[in-house]
Amino acid sequence: MSNSVNLISKTAFLKFEQCHKAFYFYKKHPYLRDKISIDKQLTFKRGHQVGDLAQTLFPGGIDVSKNSKNSAEGLALTTTLIENKTPVIYEATFAFNDALIMVDILCLENEKYTAYEVKSSFKISEVYLKDACLQYYVLKNALPNLDDLFLVTLNQEYIFENEINPKQLFKKRSVKTESEKNLPYFENQLFNAQLTLEQNKIPNIAIGKHCFKPYQCDYFSNCWKDTINENSIFNLPLLDKEKLFEWYNSGMRTIDQIGSEHDAKAIIYKIKQAYFDNKPIVDKEKITSFLSKIQSPMTAMDMEMWGPAIPQINGTKPFEQLPYLVCFFDGKKHSNVFLEYAKDDRRQFAELLLENTKHFESILVYDGTMEKMVINGLIKLFADLKSDLEHLKTKFIDIFDIFLEFSYYHPAFKTNFSLKTVAGVLLEDINYSKITSGLEAMAYFDQQRLETNLIEKESIKQELINYCQTDTLATYQLVDFLLSCL
Ligand code: SF4
Repeated sequence: MSNSVNLISKTAFLKFEQCHKAFYFYKKHPYLRDKISIDKQLTFKRGHQVGDLAQTLFPGGIDVSKNSKNSAEGLALTTTLIENKTPVIYEATFAFNDALIMVDILCLENEKYTAYEVKSSFKISEVYLKDACLQYYVLKNALPNLDDLFLVTLNQEYIFENEINPKQLFKKRSVKTESEKNLPYFENQLFNAQLTLEQNKIPNIAIGKHCFKPYQCDYFSNCWKDTINENSIFNLPLLDKEKLFEWYNSGMRTIDQIGSEHDAKAIIYKIKQAYFDNKPIVDKEKITSFLSKIQSPMTAMDMEMWGPAIPQINGTKPFEQLPYLVCFFDGKKHSNVFLEYAKDDRRQFAELLLENTKHFESILVYDGTMEKMVINGLIKLFADLKSDLEHLKTKFIDIFDIFLEFSYYHPAFKTNFSLKTVAGVLLEDINYSKITSGLEAMAYFDQQRLETNLIEKESIKQELINYCQTDTLATYQLVDFLLSCL
């Protein structure tokens, strides 16, 4: 076996599957990696929480990761635990043919081992399957009495009542058949991966669609730094990767190289002109028609949702989106409804939402998809509120449509039409709090619910309200901005 530096972990192997260069960077130049986003860190954290809960399906195990300092110690401890016929092991560590794996849960029953790999999602993606097949390949060779390997996922139909029932929250699926079929593939890929490392030079791989599939690569900034400049074709909205790489591979690099022979939609040529003039596209007719739908009195509205992977409120399912905060800005003052969900607060939320919006003829939202989804959920729950909630949806004026339909487009938006980007380009004095995304806001809300120090609890609540209020202020000001364009 190679020394532990050359061992190929699951993460490294999945990088090899995406791009040999990414794999090489991961192993030999890890410092080139992009900073891990907060949303990614929160997703990892959620995965750990779900993994910890899944261990309760098989209680009393010994956790190898908590009792070893590195992979060599983990391997040695696992060997001892296997020799001692330990019935349940968490994070059992194995290596075979230079691949290193850690199994979430390993159980011994009737002299045979069954492995469980836990995922905090409903579906089994292609990446999860590959990850499980690699584990199976190693286990099959390193553990003679392996019986099966299961992928454990969350059960979409599970409904929380009073306390978590892990047996119902999780469901499992054997991946033995797929894994057996793919054993030669993994053998071959591990050989190729080792060869890539031994060659000791960065694989010559150009950027391509693989930089985004299945995930945006961790070395994106390094490989794309000379490609993404102000006039890069990759700053163009509306075009899919297929088209962009067709152009890129034919030698096109900048937007000004797009000619009539490229047979793009008319809007692409308009965007090209906007880049060339460094001036926005302003379709006054469409903007006027859009704004004429707004009736006074109006208010801007934004909601924040909480959707824990492990449900905590009676009657809710994993990842069910519960609205806990709605903010309003009517041009003069801010107001909000904040509910803490010590119990199911959805009825109260629905009633307060209706109460706070009944005097307004128009409700300004920015991409109101989530808000509409929440209202549809409330309609399902409270049939007596159906007509009022349906009526509320008819008052929505979605400012996002102006940008999505290119009635207004600024080259500085590039491909991003999020409220934060659009407001950052068009509005002055819009400053977001330290919360930067809906997922981060959700993590803050989790923290707020658990906080016992009342001062700290109030401070987190205020931070969340500030975040949501900034969205309503930006949405309202965008209407003023669009009026000023006419
Ligand atoms: S950015 Fe693209 S080319 Fe560069 S390492 Fe990642 S996947 Fe490979």
